[in-house]
Amino acid sequence: MKVLVINCGSSSLKYQLIDSDSEEVLAKGLCERIGIDGRLTHKPAAKDKVEIEADMPNHTAAVSLVLQYLTDREHGVIASLDEIGAVGHRVVHGGEKFACSTLLTDEVLAEIEKCNELAPLHNPANLIGINACKELMPGVPMVGVFDTAFHQTMPKKAFLYGLPYEYYEKYGVRRYGFHGTSHSYVSGRAAEILGKDKKDLKVIVCHLGNGASVCAVDGGRSVDTSMGFTPLEGLIMGTRSGDIDPAIIEYVAGKETMSVSEALTVLNKKSGIFGLSGGLSSDFRDLDAAKEEGNEKAAMAVSAFCYRVAKYVGAYAAAMNGVDVIVFTAGAGENDTVVRAEIVSYLGYLGIKLDEAKNNCRGKEQIISTDDSDRIAMVIPTNEELAIARETVALV
Ligand code: AMP
Repeated sequence: MKVLVINCGSSSLKYQLIDSDSEEVLAKGLCERIGIDGRLTHKPAAKDKVEIEADMPNHTAAVSLVLQYLTDREHGVIASLDEIGAVGHRVVHGGEKFACSTLLTDEVLAEIEKCNELAPLHNPANLIGINACKELMPGVPMVGVFDTAFHQTMPKKAFLYGLPYEYYEKYGVRRYGFHGTSHSYVSGRAAEILGKDKKDLKVIVCHLGNGASVCAVDGGRSVDTSMGFTPLEGLIMGTRSGDIDPAIIEYVAGKETMSVSEALTVLNKKSGIFGLSGGLSSDFRDLDAAKEEGNEKAAMAVSAFCYRVAKYVGAYAAAMNGVDVIVFTAGAGENDTVVRAEIVSYLGYLGIKLDEAKNNCRGKEQIISTDDSDRIAMVIPTNEELAIARETVALV
């Protein structure tokens, strides 16, 4: 079956058409500046990439253009839309309602809408993408795959905050966790690569991209994760602060004459390694280069990032009473050899030693600990689109 995977943001839409039998990507692309002007980058497998400036007043127009290019004589990869057997949609927040992927019926869409206030920047955009696809591909089954679903197995002691209990009951204030599709895919793949049953493994996944989170996966189930009620908690990220003392918000808002909402914008958009490096960059490649040239703030930003990851690894090894495998994934986890080396340098107490030659790898599956390490450290590229396609096929 051919599955169209859609990841819809407020002004962008990423897509992949995947053949679920061969798991081959037939075409992929990105619509940007939806509602502003519009740009489509379309890359069919084995054909040249095309970039088109085209009017995209809304998401329906964007999806329509994608479908047109997928079936285009010159740039297309399928003869007709009838070849698309199902559409898998990434949905950021499923609240406590969705512990697994689900067929997108009208009732389900109404439930997702109820989660909008938990993810006001993401869920409404996801819903717009779903509705656009429903309009243009009536009768094609649609599946929602939630970023939060994998973490619904967390025990209460891990997902509750030390706040008045009524906030959880009345407003759903709790840890939800994100990047669930990635953590699930990568931890499952670790078990496959090692030839083990995932039920017998304790895995810590470090998803280190622009957004970053760590997840403790015990026996194939998420038991704790570093992102919380929103994706702001946990690790120091590209531009997000991660954990801070909440009292800082009022203190700095007073000094800088900011509202709470403005302070939160700083925590989301101007903090993390970007803020720590004095606004130099949120990209590890830039900071690694600046560090080489002796930029102390850049060096400190990377060190603070690695130290925070190492602290979470330690916490999750304690939470699971041990760990067998530590996996690095996402942009920096898959590619940044310096960041991985610095994080692993904290893990000697777990009996993990870095094999520097093996660590000199980018974007491929690779064990990076020495053969005589007590526990394994490895790199596994994440593939959320493939995971969404698999879930979609399983449901339809
Ligand atoms: P993601 O959010 O998973 O797409 O990751 C994006 C981030 O990964 C970028 O902001 C970079 O900081 C980091 N990244 C990507 N490629 C590299 C690389 N070759 N070396 C170091 N960091 C990288």
